[in-house]
Amino acid sequence: MKWDAWGDPALARELPADIKALLAAALGVTGDAGPGPTAAEVVLRPSLLTEADLKALAAVVGEAHLSDADADRLPRAGGKSTPDLLRRRSRAPQDAPDAVVLPGSEDEIAAVLALCAERRIAVVPFGGGTSVVGGLDPERGGFTAVVSLDLRRFDRLLDLDAISGEAVLGAGLTGPAAEALLAERGFELGHYPQSFRFATIGGFAATRSSGQDSAGYGRFDEMVRGLRVVTPAGVLDLGRAPASAAGPDLRELFLGSEGTLGVITAVRVRVHPVPAVKAYEAWNFPDFTTGADALRAVEQRGTGPTVIRLSDEAETAVNLAMTEQIGGEAAVSGCLAVTVFEGDAEQVTARHRLTRAVLLAAGGTSLGEAPARAWEHGRFNAPYLRDSLLGAGALCETLETATDWRRLPALRAAVTSALTTALPGSLVLCHISHVYPTGASLYFTVVAAQGPDPLAQWAAAKRATGDAIAAAGATITHHHAVGADHRPWMADEIGELGVRILHAVKAAVDPVGILNPGKLIP
Ligand SMILES: Cc1cc2nc3c(=O)[nH]c(=O)nc-3n(C[C@H](O)[C@H](O)[C@H](O)COP(=O)(O)OP(=O)(O)OC[C@H]3O[C@@H](n4cnc5c(N)ncnc54)[C@H](O)[C@@H]3O)c2cc1C
Repeated sequence: MKWDAWGDPALARELPADIKALLAAALGVTGDAGPGPTAAEVVLRPSLLTEADLKALAAVVGEAHLSDADADRLPRAGGKSTPDLLRRRSRAPQDAPDAVVLPGSEDEIAAVLALCAERRIAVVPFGGGTSVVGGLDPERGGFTAVVSLDLRRFDRLLDLDAISGEAVLGAGLTGPAAEALLAERGFELGHYPQSFRFATIGGFAATRSSGQDSAGYGRFDEMVRGLRVVTPAGVLDLGRAPASAAGPDLRELFLGSEGTLGVITAVRVRVHPVPAVKAYEAWNFPDFTTGADALRAVEQRGTGPTVIRLSDEAETAVNLAMTEQIGGEAAVSGCLAVTVFEGDAEQVTARHRLTRAVLLAAGGTSLGEAPARAWEHGRFNAPYLRDSLLGAGALCETLETATDWRRLPALRAAVTSALTTALPGSLVLCHISHVYPTGASLYFTVVAAQGPDPLAQWAAAKRATGDAIAAAGATITHHHAVGADHRPWMADEIGELGVRILHAVKAAVDPVGILNPGKLIP
């Protein structure tokens, strides 16, 4: 993973000249932002850990699994939001964790947490480093220093129960590593967020991640049967049956806890046999409202697509311009929807037939399978485009929310208006990324010309959209999580009593408060 951009350096791409010309004409994006510093040129604030701290940490994890070298601190200095990437471009001294600790067992994690509580060192659990909400900011929160606790050594398939369809996965396994281990045994998890290639099992659980196949397989939190969590107060092993009436479900406290309540070491998840057959069909709708109504009809009938999503007119047109793969005149003038079906042949045929009947009746026009296949082929590539846009002098960022179907049109209008007011002349794209019988999530992408201070420019837009989302009664985040960036809206979302409950839980499991200060809990 690159430290100053998304993903695999080999996949970075320059913007084609015609797209740059289009950006200049349509959005006033002129002039490259210029190259940021190289890793060697970045100046990190010196580590605040003492020799005694480092010696004590090394005594727990071993010298080889502790580092205060800049080369190890820099890649853990934050996540991959646009503000994170803009901050990496700074030539002024940058903040970073004071050291990186790589424990190899739950006992080592418990010992690191005890030591950090005693020495007043904050701890930020680190999975794949893909947070887009400031979840990995190296905040010290009043403590003397902060360490990044990297879970990458928790990288094993610990159990596969083929009879029950469950696997126990180490928290540090990345999406592809987990799928490769399961595939050797004929199984699949089927969790494909756009950050799939780098994000980890522990990170998915800690942020309540949602994948592109969530219509079929559920969000990550819905797949979780059990969790092991090391907290400063002890170890929890939660979830012992497929369902239980044994009081409130404590798993729910740690799903979405974002490293503030404990360190997730292993996750027991629902898995399914690798699907034998896949079917694809793309659709055109004359407008977003008709398309949204069609997706609602599919979800409320329960016809069972694995993937179903709808782009608005602007996103459909931009996708067409960028990929030249979404064929057909109909797609240009309307909204593109993608459906994918997975399973055995009989099931796929039946679910596809039922779904297409609903979509046809709701005003959809089939575009055949090519645009849906093209979407799947390129589905992990969009983040590379954001890097190219940032380099070309554009400001590009995404945000997401969710509400019930009834309030979806008003929410879309409110967020679009907040974005275009805060970023005049910007291009706002939107799609329905996840659907439920009672509502859906909206995912926005905004592109504008970078001003002289792009960080302040985005901060103002983020404030305006967060306020618009709260005023619309929607959730501040459907799947990106809270981190530092959405924390200002948490009290509004869960109420003052809700905040007190979170503080009470925090006090029980992390009495000194060393775990990920400044995130999630207001
Ligand atoms: C380009 C891009 C696309 C994205 N697409 C999606 C998407 O489609 N769907 C989606 O849901 N999200 C998406 N995200 C957001 C992000 O990938 C998710 O939040 C992901 O689940 C984080 O996993 P990670 O392993 O990278 O965790 P990190 O980023 O390392 O950590 C995220 C948070 O979880 C905590 N944490 C991590 N591991 C543990 C652990 N083992 N125990 C306790 N706490 C832990 C960290 O302290 C931090 O607060 C995207 C991000 C990017 C940059």
